[in-house]
Amino acid sequence: MPARKKRGRAWLERAVIALLVLCIGAELVYWYRHRAIPGAKVSTPDWVTQELLPLNPYSRPATPLETVDGVVIHYVGNPGTSAAANRSYFANLALTHEAYASAHFVVGLEGEVLQCVPLTEIAYCSSQANDYTVSIEVCHADEAGEFSAETMASLLRLTAWLCGEFDLSSANVIRHYDVTGKICPKYYVEHPEAWEDFLSSLDALLAQEEAAP
Ligand SMILES: [Zn+2]
Repeated sequence: MPARKKRGRAWLERAVIALLVLCIGAELVYWYRHRAIPGAKVSTPDWVTQELLPLNPYSRPATPLETVDGVVIHYVGNPGTSAAANRSYFANLALTHEAYASAHFVVGLEGEVLQCVPLTEIAYCSSQANDYTVSIEVCHADEAGEFSAETMASLLRLTAWLCGEFDLSSANVIRHYDVTGKICPKYYVEHPEAWEDFLSSLDALLAQEEAAP
């Protein structure tokens, strides 16, 4: 084999090895940073579709979520959009750079549940509460922002599951409004009794789960 070709191949081999070492190194660093945090031991139920966002500074910065003290509920504020469309918006921020935004979960108009960010990482959703809460964005049909029966059923199921996994009660479930004063989720800020109904239904579901063998 000519010496030049041989040198070329040796260079290529070294480059491939260097790339492998870099990839394994990055995986190890990721694993080490996220290994001992609460979300690491939670496994996703089959009614949640996991479509994680690509790692990027605008919607999935891979910052460890060290504690989970609450769940924050939002409305997407964009009537009629699907869970998939809202997930795509978050994913595209990696390219558009137009905002810092994401949520752990998006609940859709038909009750579908998409997970965008792992429970071991923070999402950019609830301002100063990002560091210690799990966030849920909820789709709605119109400007009023009320959730459909299917959407509400899934939201209750998801919230109850999170409460069970992180040892939380309905007192730890709050609105975006309770963090920053933003009118979000709109209908449930403008109709506090509807929010109280949601919390009562959550309490009933949690009590039911506790009573189950
Ligand atoms: Zn919000």
